[in-house]
Amino acid sequence: RQAKKVIGVQDDLKLTVNAIKVLEARYLLKDENGNVIETPRQMFERTARYLALVDIFYEDDIYDKEGKQKERKIDVEEKPEFLSIWEFNMLKRAFTYFSKEGYMKVDFSYVLDSLKSKWDKIERVKNKFAEVMLHRKYVPNSPTLMNANTKLGQLSACFVLPVPDSIEGIFNAVKYAAMIHKSGGGTGFSFSRLRPKGDIVASTMGVASGPLSFMRVFDVATDVIKQGGKRRGANMGVLSVHHPDILEFITSKDSENKVLSNFNISVAVTDEFMDALLRDDYYPLRNPRNGEEVKRIKARQVWDLIITQAWKTGDPGVIFIDEVNRKHPVKHLGEIESTNPCGEQPLLPYESCNLGSINLSLFVENGKIKWDDLRDTVHTAVHFMDNVIDANNYPLPQVAEMTRRSRKIGLGVMGWAEMLIKLGIPYDSEEAVELAEKVMKFINEESHRASMKLAEKRGVFPAWEGSEWWKKGMKIRNATTTTIAPTGTISIIAGTSSSIEPLFAIAFIRRVLDGQELLEVNPLFEEIMKREGLYSEELMHKVAETGSVQHIDDVPENIKRLFRTAHDIDPVWHVRMQAAFQKYVDNAVSKTVNLRHDASISDVEDTYILAWKLKCKGITIYRDGSKNVQVIYKGTKT
Ligand code: UDP
Repeated sequence: RQAKKVIGVQDDLKLTVNAIKVLEARYLLKDENGNVIETPRQMFERTARYLALVDIFYEDDIYDKEGKQKERKIDVEEKPEFLSIWEFNMLKRAFTYFSKEGYMKVDFSYVLDSLKSKWDKIERVKNKFAEVMLHRKYVPNSPTLMNANTKLGQLSACFVLPVPDSIEGIFNAVKYAAMIHKSGGGTGFSFSRLRPKGDIVASTMGVASGPLSFMRVFDVATDVIKQGGKRRGANMGVLSVHHPDILEFITSKDSENKVLSNFNISVAVTDEFMDALLRDDYYPLRNPRNGEEVKRIKARQVWDLIITQAWKTGDPGVIFIDEVNRKHPVKHLGEIESTNPCGEQPLLPYESCNLGSINLSLFVENGKIKWDDLRDTVHTAVHFMDNVIDANNYPLPQVAEMTRRSRKIGLGVMGWAEMLIKLGIPYDSEEAVELAEKVMKFINEESHRASMKLAEKRGVFPAWEGSEWWKKGMKIRNATTTTIAPTGTISIIAGTSSSIEPLFAIAFIRRVLDGQELLEVNPLFEEIMKREGLYSEELMHKVAETGSVQHIDDVPENIKRLFRTAHDIDPVWHVRMQAAFQKYVDNAVSKTVNLRHDASISDVEDTYILAWKLKCKGITIYRDGSKNVQVIYKGTKT
């Protein structure tokens, strides 16, 4: 899996070929001619240094955590030699905010002088951040790696924007989304406040066109922006199950014309709805403009449509919105209506969140989990991510304000499937579910501890008073600390399995651009088969035909048991695993329950109901081959 030599990039970290390709295409800095001008090591060091600089603001002689509201002005025009222009601008930006809020005892020139005199300290923090990234024990979300110490400087993956019921408000949201996509972030929206199709428009005496028509505007805008951005702009569209246009919403992605292709859609399902469903009763649809009940409809009718559509196309997913709000630690700031695009991060309107993930596969040695190392990595990650909030160049002032009030961060994991394999535990087993709870409980508690330690020095998050933490008398720096992201790209960079997902294929054929075909085998499988003297290219090609080893006689039973893929694993275990992690995650879990092509509509229903019963915050399924365009193909013969 190692890239010996890839043209244009010097691999100084022994990364995989795929990691190098991804980094070269979109992460490593380039000059005006498009030539790569840094190595992977330099990328991580650039990121570590940029975030370490923030620590200077929290030195005792500089920082006033009580925040007494005194303004400090910036009287320094000239950038000192030892800082890059983007580092200098970042520090100026952060200083301006800290001053406005009264957190600074000193002027900006003093901060710069201190940076020089206390450089050893900054350097130590930088090394600590760099160490975890260089070993890929911890990797921040893509925008942090892409944009640290660059003009853009936008470091977060997740945003939620409000969509108010006015033309001006809607088109502001379109504009804001474009600005966020440009910087590599994804946006979530609730369209539940928009009046339904056919409703009155007083100013024009016309009729409203409804949420779906406006979602198409967002979709097209996303398409246009993605041409110039570093990554695909992704959107989440949420509609309340009580909205009069809900049926049209549920079927909105079921079309030949690839409508809303830049959206994941989710129905925000309430307890009221679920109760009606279980009683086989009717429930109300309400016009959000005035709250009036428009009509009552059979919950079963809506539910069946959700399930059938999910079976057909993968959309919609479901968000259990009341459960989300019950667990929300800053209820006094408002109610959550949407998540980010992949569902793992519920946020208030204008909130953003930076994510980062720990590579669990690296925390196994001689069949044992390295808990001490894991603890240290969690603490470093929380420190790093808290700094991201200060260093970030927010795309909008409203986002800057909301994000700094709750200071949410989302530490998650990747490489879970590989950790289990290294421990000899099958993914679909009681033991694995128990271990999931144990590992995530540990990470969650340690992340809270780390955030509380930060609070001692830096103070609690500004909206702490009135929060659930305040009610418990716990002083903490970040309203939330944990989130399980999909880690779509950073798991490739780290060279491990993504998020908490099982392996997708044990071996597969990757078609490369020039028409070449490359056989890729999971390295743990390769290692075990070689150790047992059972490895052959021919056998691996056979495995690659379907991606699964379950039907292959040459693979011993105990190895088969360990190497079950996403499709070999019964959906119940997918959901139980998601629920086990959710139990100890402040935010939410991004998980796709992968179903086999022959899964039935009632399999989908069982999955959604189980997720609800196990108190997941949401659920998404994907039935193999159910969409025309599938991102990853499992095998050569499916
Ligand atoms: N995201 C996005 N566009 C993309 C991939 C991701 O906007 O092409 C956002 C989206 O909000 C998603 C979040 O980033 O929920 C985290 O995704 P992932 O963990 O896959 O990102 P990575 O850091 O691995 O690139």
